[in-house]
Amino acid sequence: MNNINEIQRFSFDHTNVRGERVLLTDAYQNIISRKSYPESLEKLLGEFTAAIALLRDIIKIDGVLSIQCKGNGPLQTLMTECDEKQNLRGIAQWDQEQEFPATVSLKELLEGGYLVITITPRNGQRYQGIVEIVGDSLAECLEQYFMQSEQLPSRVWLASNGVQAGGLFLQRLPAEQAQEGDEDAWERFVHLASTVKDEELFDLDTATLLHRLYHEEELRLYDAKTMQFGCSCTRQRTLDAIISMGAEEVREILSEQGAINVECQFCAESYSFLKEDLDDYLGDQAHTH
Ligand SMILES: [Zn+2]
Repeated sequence: MNNINEIQRFSFDHTNVRGERVLLTDAYQNIISRKSYPESLEKLLGEFTAAIALLRDIIKIDGVLSIQCKGNGPLQTLMTECDEKQNLRGIAQWDQEQEFPATVSLKELLEGGYLVITITPRNGQRYQGIVEIVGDSLAECLEQYFMQSEQLPSRVWLASNGVQAGGLFLQRLPAEQAQEGDEDAWERFVHLASTVKDEELFDLDTATLLHRLYHEEELRLYDAKTMQFGCSCTRQRTLDAIISMGAEEVREILSEQGAINVECQFCAESYSFLKEDLDDYLGDQAHTH
């Protein structure tokens, strides 16, 4: 499948199971093309990108959602972000002095670290949730997050290969009336999803994938939403960041370099500010008499 970048919600009639499936190709490739990332880090960024896409569609806030982590070893920082228009961006920093491990668990990479999920609504308070690193994978961390934040049993599968990033999510909603066999149904759904191969997650459209897994169930597929790479940087935001360095620092760079040039690390957009652009903020404007 070429250039599919979408997320799709689904449920099964007569069950309390719902889910989401995400598949990203060039939206993901765009993110990893900004730097020459080590191969295993490209894949990890893919998993984080698929994860933030799933989270955004599940949490459904009007605003921006991000997931980030910090490490003291080979991985220094990693963050991915998604807004309500399905714009995705992400970035990672790693220690280029040492070889980045080809295979290593998230737990080992982040030794004692944690994940931070930040919800920034367009209107209202920003909210941060801390997620402990449990198990070996990002998927397990997210399952823990859903259990804590929504008290609902959830399962997550994530995969990435440097070209595509995909994810599958299942959640058991509270039954209005607990029915006999509900527990078994959930176990059955999870068991079948666990048989999904990474290639199936990359190559099959959602209807085919779900039919292959659950052909005996009555599938209800909702409209797919297109996702894309998109950066939220603006000239004004870049200016705000420069000003936050403090007037003294800004003056120093201006006197040394004549201008302040900033390149957005997410999208490579470049912004240039001259002294006259910054005068108003530095309190240096010429006084006219
Ligand atoms: Zn940008």
